Amino acid sequence: MTAVQTSLSPSSVCLPNRPLRVAVLGASGAVGQELLQLLEQRRFRVAELLPLASPRSAGQSLGWQGRALTIQPVEASAFEGVDLVLASAGGSVSRQWAPLAAAAGALVIDNSSAFRMDPEVPLVVPEVNPEAAFSHRGIIANPNCTTILLSLALAPLHARRPIRRVVVSTYQSASGAGARAMEELRSLSRTVLDGGEPVSEVLPHSLAFNLFLHNSPLQPNGYCEEELKMLHETRKIMGTPELRLSATCVRVPVLRAHSEAVNIEFHEPFPVEEARALLAAAPGVELLDDFDANRFPMPTDVTGRDPVAVGRIRQDLSEPNALELWLCGDQIRKGAALNAIQIAELLIEAPGAQAGGGP
Ligand code: NAP
Repeated sequence: MTAVQTSLSPSSVCLPNRPLRVAVLGASGAVGQELLQLLEQRRFRVAELLPLASPRSAGQSLGWQGRALTIQPVEASAFEGVDLVLASAGGSVSRQWAPLAAAAGALVIDNSSAFRMDPEVPLVVPEVNPEAAFSHRGIIANPNCTTILLSLALAPLHARRPIRRVVVSTYQSASGAGARAMEELRSLSRTVLDGGEPVSEVLPHSLAFNLFLHNSPLQPNGYCEEELKMLHETRKIMGTPELRLSATCVRVPVLRAHSEAVNIEFHEPFPVEEARALLAAAPGVELLDDFDANRFPMPTDVTGRDPVAVGRIRQDLSEPNALELWLCGDQIRKGAALNAIQIAELLIEAPGAQAGGGP
């Protein structure tokens, strides 16, 4: 892991409370497109927006706030005078450019996994550990998408009764692998419906009417990288280095929004009604738990929406100290772009505060 070399004075922790120069690195991608939409929808105060990508899409035009912007190739000079970089172009791109952007004075909020487990880099979900954002040194990491969604459901329960162990299975949509994977699911589904043989080029297998275990690199212990990200990142975000968590990550033929079946074991019984009330009141969570109508969260309920929907909260029949629940969240939105923008919003100086003062 590359340690971040940048060192910022405490006076540089907050973003100035004025329209900002914002660079979106990876602007042509699935997360980049969502970032652009959300900056507009949330009326984020932007003085200038710089869409950056690779030479492949440089020169292409993007519509933003009724204007046409031209994607520029990323290069060191692109970060001069930039206040905020929202990076979503993959780990190697972030490793190359984020430290340079931070050294040039920008705050980088990075969607890749490049810096997430770096002890110098905060890993932030604003509803869970907002205070961590204020200890940055120029780079803040946005957690893995499945982990963000999970942490929103775990944190309010853990605050009431400490969690002992979590067993989670994920049902991850094609868009989690980027814009091209989403398009591949569309086109291979058409191929299958037309009686053809689907041949995948983006994902390792065809996802059309199929599913497969997450294809991130397998580790010697038999878990894949995505599953271990869920373990290590959940521990870091929740400040629970001893938390026991085992994940099985699966890619499913859904275009957008991830789902998770979660078993949560506590040190003592957790009444279901109490858990339901806590989750109903939790920030970023929406309860969809209608046992009478047998209606629980589905990916289509959360697509294009902010909250993580949680439901089917029930006592685990096999373990008196455990609860079962189901959740769905739009991983491009809350699992990536929205979370990044919420971090930036958190850091915008309060009006009237002394220039640059963090808490
Ligand atoms: P994507 O749709 O494949 O987009 C990738 C973006 O990165 C494109 O804009 C691409 O530009 C740009 N890029 C690639 N190589 C580059 C280079 N050498 N220099 C500059 N730009 C380059 O991928 P995505 O799904 O948006 O994911 C982007 C990042 O966010 C990844 O790190 C991913 O792990 C993370 N993330 C994704 C999700 C999700 O649900 N998709 C959720 C959380 C985190 P070109 O068009 O020029 O190739």
